[in-house]
Amino acid sequence: MRTLIVGGVAGGMSAATRLRRLDESAEIVVFERGQYVSFANCGLPYYVGGVITNRSDLLLQTPESLTARFRLDVRINREVTSVDRAARTVTVRDTITGDVSTEPYDRLVLAAGASARSAPRGLATTTLRTIDDVDHIESVLSGRPDGATAVVIGAGFIGLEAVENLVHRGVRVTLVQRGMQLFGPLDPEMAAPLLATLQEQGVDVRLGTTVLGASADGLGLALSDGTTVAADLVIDASGVSPDTSLAEQAGLRIGASGGVWVDDTQRTSDAFIYAVGDGVEKTDAVTGDPLLVTMAGLANRHGRAAADSIAGQPEPASPALGTAILGLFGVVVALTGWSEKRLVAAGRAHRIAHTHPVSHAGYYPGAEPMSMKLLIDPQTDAILGAQIVGGSGVDKRIDVIATAMAGGLTASALTRLELAYAPQFASAKDPINQLGYVADNLRAGTSRNIQWHELAAARVAGAVLVDVRSIGEFEGGSIPGAINVPLDELRSRLADLPTAPLIVHCQVGQRGHTAARLLTQHGFDVRNLDGGYRTWLAGDSLSTVRPTPERILA
Ligand code: FAD
Repeated sequence: MRTLIVGGVAGGMSAATRLRRLDESAEIVVFERGQYVSFANCGLPYYVGGVITNRSDLLLQTPESLTARFRLDVRINREVTSVDRAARTVTVRDTITGDVSTEPYDRLVLAAGASARSAPRGLATTTLRTIDDVDHIESVLSGRPDGATAVVIGAGFIGLEAVENLVHRGVRVTLVQRGMQLFGPLDPEMAAPLLATLQEQGVDVRLGTTVLGASADGLGLALSDGTTVAADLVIDASGVSPDTSLAEQAGLRIGASGGVWVDDTQRTSDAFIYAVGDGVEKTDAVTGDPLLVTMAGLANRHGRAAADSIAGQPEPASPALGTAILGLFGVVVALTGWSEKRLVAAGRAHRIAHTHPVSHAGYYPGAEPMSMKLLIDPQTDAILGAQIVGGSGVDKRIDVIATAMAGGLTASALTRLELAYAPQFASAKDPINQLGYVADNLRAGTSRNIQWHELAAARVAGAVLVDVRSIGEFEGGSIPGAINVPLDELRSRLADLPTAPLIVHCQVGQRGHTAARLLTQHGFDVRNLDGGYRTWLAGDSLSTVRPTPERILA
């Protein structure tokens, strides 16, 4: 059995090494058009930033080491240019000599990854995707020891990691983002703290802005907001698209999402050809719909699944949640499943719970705040998604929720998870349990909440906002027009409250819940402002970055 693999990094090399472990007799040939295989593309930004100091640490394997351990025939600088499905051959071009050869296969695995979307025309940009890219970035930065300037286009995962690492290197950075929010996968109120974080680090953030091209003086870039910015370096991180070129040439089915269609064993529409990684359509774990996710864990897992299938022991490759995490100057951002804006766009009913716990028992030194958001199906109580922003402890909480989703636990079941606790690690009621309590109260009708973005309309309709925080907290900052009745005075001041529907709130939602329970039992029509003043404030801060009409038109 001769298996050819196109692409020698995450998905391709996982397929190759797994196949060898399963079948010592298989002939396995890997074609990689670049000069490096199995390199740590996720580590590239940290090499730019000087966090990873040895370039060689990025090169996890070499063709020689893969031959020695796995008896793989790894051919670098070889581009597969076409597939002949009838003859079961591929055409391979040597990218150094230009020589062309034909190679037969019994099974073919396409692991060609994704391609960067093209930069504005006429602009000299670099991507941050390969060893060659970081070598180029390094040469520009080291040529300007007195301080370089850079423009990063796009505020997604790679754009933000690029910004952080360029700042570490002392580069003055302008971040240009077409949308009105950083890090599009998050809901806007969850992403709000990222803007403040970048601005504290001196990053010039331009939201609602695009790059038009090189500036007239040729020294920088002209932006759609009418300004020009200096740029010794322009990193284009505006996104990627699945590389389906070979699959299309071969006439394979392309899925509705734009990635190569595969079944649940990674087999394409041709029974002899498999496809894995960023170029491939995934199945959404929440809905079962086609989905694009470009993450390393899925590329590795699906590479393994393809090898299992080729070796005759197919295991269904499970669907994708899109679980992801990002560090930005000490702020940790993590998400899994669907966001609120995606649910709204799809017209899918949902419940929301925001909480603001701390990473471990508040009395033990070093507890860090975090903001959590859970999206829930109101009919089934299924968890649809979650987002967490904070510091330490964010990673394990998102992984618990992703695991709960994969295992089909309901939101209310989070109350019952028995999680490890000692004061320096967690709380006796872990933030996950607390999120479950909020969700369970919503499910049972013990509480009703309202979201920060629904507040204005509810007040226009006649609801009265009651701030149940202390007088000191109220005076330190409050939602305009709220009346202040501290929670501990509420029972004695019921007569002061209007009979109109009430919306109560505290700082993070917990005292608001107690107030809502108290008032409901006294016959009031009450809802709790979800996530309290803190979530409202994050949402309200977005109004300061909304574009002027001129900027939208630009
Ligand atoms: P790749 O790993 O991109 O490999 C595809 C290979 O195929 C390339 O080397 C390419 O040269 C080769 N190729 C393409 N066409 C041909 C051809 N015709 N012939 C021969 N060779 C070909 N994911 C995470 O989950 N977490 C992270 O923190 C993270 N950070 C990242 C940071 C950066 C800077 C980048 C660029 C990506 C990051 N990712 C991260 C994404 C992750 O790296 C990808 O999801 C993963 O590498 C995809 O694996 P793949 O095998 O599909 O494609």
